[in-house]
Amino acid sequence: MSQLILALDFGGTKFAAALTDNRDSWIGKELLPAPAPASAQADYAGMLAMARKLLAGRQAAAIGVSFGGPVDAARNTVILSHHVQGWEQVPLGAWLQRDLGAPAAIDNDANAGALGEYTYGAGQNCSSVFYITVSTGVGGGLVADGRVWHGADGMAGEIGHMQVDPAGPLCLCGKHGCVERLASGPYMAADARAQMTAGSALWELCAGDAAQITGQLVAAAANRGDEVAMRLIERSATALGRGIGNTANILNPQRFVVGGGVTKAGSRWWQVLQAAARATALPEITVDIAPAQLIDDAPLWGAVALARAAVTSN
Ligand SMILES: [Zn+2]
Repeated sequence: MSQLILALDFGGTKFAAALTDNRDSWIGKELLPAPAPASAQADYAGMLAMARKLLAGRQAAAIGVSFGGPVDAARNTVILSHHVQGWEQVPLGAWLQRDLGAPAAIDNDANAGALGEYTYGAGQNCSSVFYITVSTGVGGGLVADGRVWHGADGMAGEIGHMQVDPAGPLCLCGKHGCVERLASGPYMAADARAQMTAGSALWELCAGDAAQITGQLVAAAANRGDEVAMRLIERSATALGRGIGNTANILNPQRFVVGGGVTKAGSRWWQVLQAAARATALPEITVDIAPAQLIDDAPLWGAVALARAAVTSN
């Protein structure tokens, strides 16, 4: 029996909504920049309008939601947003049930991405997958035997704040040398701005204006042989590789799936990542690291899996 599933993704900079009745394609998909000025009410109204447009009067069998912030998945409630006021303890699942008349299951974006890759992407046919997204931040999620492992406080999978260099630079969380502080795009860009020298490839690429440097630009400069950029790219891959190796030692998942903008940094980044993970993990552990397949759609497909599970359990 075909069932209409509505998938919603509340991302940091953009929102997405999509509709499917199968395993591999969308019937329709809508994108929206996150509303400004930001508020939970504006976020919700924008998302609801997209959902109603997609449904065009049809009834969804279930709704899955990926939310860019901590959630209480068991209660389908948002705990808060780090970027937008008003999301504190919002019963988002109940709101959607009220407004769209279908059961809704929610999880945070890293867990939804993990479930998406596990069910429909690079983690298919694996019994356990640890998913990592490396872009503006570093998020992670573990799926084992079809279920997300949330942990006692709903905080499991936070590989971004695993400390891999205690002598390293200060992270936003107050510790030094976290994976996120060393591996994420904005932090690489910030360090490149501080270390750039006049006349270098980095300097040429940003036309001497350090404010223009992004993570992408650092990768481009590294590929042109810029020494500062190459060092930062290697440091990023080494930090994440150590994080993966340590995680392998604790959890021994069948596969690591890695996605996000920083993974497009080039083949050198991937080589260093694999070598650092291999050097950190115990020799008995197979370290299988695969690039994400669903790319930007991983949280949406994870939302589909959440919704299907909700229908089954009802
Ligand atoms: Zn940190």
